[in-house]
Amino acid sequence: MATICIVAFVLYFSWVFWKGEPIVTASPRTFEQVTIDWLCESGHSFQATGQRTQRSCPRCSKRSYVVTLYSCEVHGRMEILLGYDAEDEDQLRVTRWRLPSRGWVKSEQELRCPRSRCRRTLRRAPRDPLAPIGRKIKPRGG
Ligand SMILES: [Zn+2]
Ligand SMILES: [Zn+2]
Repeated sequence: MATICIVAFVLYFSWVFWKGEPIVTASPRTFEQVTIDWLCESGHSFQATGQRTQRSCPRCSKRSYVVTLYSCEVHGRMEILLGYDAEDEDQLRVTRWRLPSRGWVKSEQELRCPRSRCRRTLRRAPRDPLAPIGRKIKPRGG
């Protein structure tokens, strides 16, 4: 069990956090095994496994997107929605991203802080690297 968790952990990070370049890929099978953060169009956040096809919010049924944290060096962390193509059975590719209130940006382009007169490049926000594992390991007897 621990081995599975670690493998999933490593692949998960290669998809969402590890690589610096905006276009990242992962195996869809791995994606569907890992619990990640989602945000719906109404602003509800929840956790669920990755899903290649469209996922609906469990509270309002609106369309939901994978969400991750980026940060501006001045304005701090902000949530970024990821859009991906899953046409290929073996590969998942992030093709676009956006701030929750803004339009989609192609993933080849830099994401910039939306605050007026800021426009600094956003960077992935550091977060507890053990969080994805912690959610998958149940306490003894639990
Ligand atoms: Zn919702
Ligand atoms: Zn900023």
